[in-house]
Amino acid sequence: MNMTSELSLANLNHLAEKYLERISLAKDISELEQVYQAAFSRKSGEISNIMHELKDLAPDKKKEIAPYAQDLRQKIETALANKKIQLGDVSQDQTFFDATVPSKDSGRGHIHPATQVIWEIEDFFRSLGFMILDGPEVDSTFFNFEGVNIPKDHPARDMQDTFYLDENIALRPHTSNCQVRAMREYGAPLRAIVPGRCYRNENRDARHEHTFLQFEGFMIDEGISIANFRDVIDQFFKRFINEKTETRIRPGYFPFVEPGFEFDFKCFCDGFCGLCKGTGWIEFGGAGMIHPNVLKHGHIDPDKFSGWAFGFGPERLAMIRKQIPDLRLFRSGDLRFLEQF
Ligand SMILES: [Zn+2]
Repeated sequence: MNMTSELSLANLNHLAEKYLERISLAKDISELEQVYQAAFSRKSGEISNIMHELKDLAPDKKKEIAPYAQDLRQKIETALANKKIQLGDVSQDQTFFDATVPSKDSGRGHIHPATQVIWEIEDFFRSLGFMILDGPEVDSTFFNFEGVNIPKDHPARDMQDTFYLDENIALRPHTSNCQVRAMREYGAPLRAIVPGRCYRNENRDARHEHTFLQFEGFMIDEGISIANFRDVIDQFFKRFINEKTETRIRPGYFPFVEPGFEFDFKCFCDGFCGLCKGTGWIEFGGAGMIHPNVLKHGHIDPDKFSGWAFGFGPERLAMIRKQIPDLRLFRSGDLRFLEQF
């Protein structure tokens, strides 16, 4: 049998009938696969061979046969695809999507441990009459720095080095960027907390991350003093650590407050443990009386009003309470971690 007789129209029609019949009779996917191989296997498939041989035909013969051969190939491919769907194996067929098929059970999720603790903290401050505010994560250097008393070229900018989009726009290194915004919007008296995501140019380790959460809080009114802060933070630790814990404040430097201090709470241990490194106290956050310059930027009269502000990491609270050893776990997306909470 020579090539031209194999590639006659009659022969193509015969092949079409043969394959369409085999396809319609296929009872399962493996049988269908055999038909596919017989037709389209690269080395020995009948249809593949025909398509290959078309190339060697004389031009006028090729012109006559080629459209029929293409038509044959298409008919068989379509019949195979339809039969495949009919047999229920649609996984390979990207064009087919049945929205009515129930999804595989993906398990039931829950709130992220960092969000859980944020909600709890919000609840606490709401009960004390604080507003919960939100602000931009990408902000001008004025609200990020100058507004909170960190002038250009001040060394304190190194403490909160962040990522700059250009000279005047940066990812906020703290939620303090909302302090001046809130003062301008609401004026005094003012009680607010600002939870949110912050960014720093940090080397990552168990305690440091380039992306982390922060809680900023402030209270501004006539006659506000450190005593008010101590009361609030005492209640905070009694609620989140335990009833018996004590609070301590000690001097610390933060450019946006004057005076500034750090606040700690008494460790769970009786003297020595890894958490407090034997000091008996756990460092928790920074705070202080809002600097008069910051009040001025917020259009609040520092001769009439005073206020305190604090900041801490809610993830740190979650780490202490739930004994989480590494800050990086929060953003790891690792289900083995998340499923524990
Ligand atoms: Zn301890």
